Amino acid sequence: MSLLFNDFASWEKHCQATGEPLYQAVLAYEVEQKGRSEEDIWAGLQRAYEVMCDAVKTGLTQDMTSRSGMVNNGAKKVAGAPVTVLSPEFQQLISRALGAKEVNSCMGRVVAAPTAGASGILPGILTTIQELHGLDDRKIHEGLLVAAGIALIIETNASLAGAVGGCQAETGSAAAMGAGAIVYCLGGTVEQTFAAVAITIQCMLGLICDPVAGLVEVPCIVRNASAAAIAFSSAQIAIAGVNPVIPVDQCVMALGEVGQSMETRYKETALGGLANTPRGREIEKLVLVQDVEILPDEDSE
Ligand code: SF4
Repeated sequence: MSLLFNDFASWEKHCQATGEPLYQAVLAYEVEQKGRSEEDIWAGLQRAYEVMCDAVKTGLTQDMTSRSGMVNNGAKKVAGAPVTVLSPEFQQLISRALGAKEVNSCMGRVVAAPTAGASGILPGILTTIQELHGLDDRKIHEGLLVAAGIALIIETNASLAGAVGGCQAETGSAAAMGAGAIVYCLGGTVEQTFAAVAITIQCMLGLICDPVAGLVEVPCIVRNASAAAIAFSSAQIAIAGVNPVIPVDQCVMALGEVGQSMETRYKETALGGLANTPRGREIEKLVLVQDVEILPDEDSE
């Protein structure tokens, strides 16, 4: 069986021994797992990236309001804001990550990468580096494979789900996938790519999952933007050769340990954190009333 590694150390060793690029082992794994040809896998990656690009476009051009009222065209407001706090590129990155995630919250089509709750992060990151650096689609597809390999290792040793490991596992993992993809796509070494993953996990560690009213809207949407920003800062640090000190596999261990010790109320139960604030509880009641109002009349069934 073609191996997909249990840890980053084995993946790095494999690349050193074979001289293969990082994505190659993930491609072989996909071929074997799905029983498809390499061409099919590349075609699937192309479709996935097209859905990501469409989600960004939709979020920035269509009406994005949710039934709860908590989503109200935030991405378009950011894209058109007259004050640019850092740079136009940063403004674009944030608006794109928000836009793709708003599409998910408004029941549109997205790629769960690795989950629907984190579905704005990779689209925001990949469309931005492609535009900034003039990368071709093939390079982005390779970056997607690298990101998938990162996710599989985190899933094996910790978790990718907010309900299991808190938001650190969900948006944190997506940010780590994105940071690794950035460094890979910009020609970083394997060591630098994995350093970006380690630094990102260090930055996201401990983040709880506390969706208001149990809806994947607040704080999920803004966390997609912040995770995208952290992926870029981590990639910038890692590609400069800064040592993350704690090896990436040990960062993943910490992610798993923190996730296990997190109280249930911080794991997508909407019992703690922002979900348990007075305003969060008010919104929860309003959403419940809305749901009751749209329940079908028993006599009319
Ligand atoms: S807060 Fe929970 S539901 Fe929202 S993005 Fe994070 S993990 Fe997902």
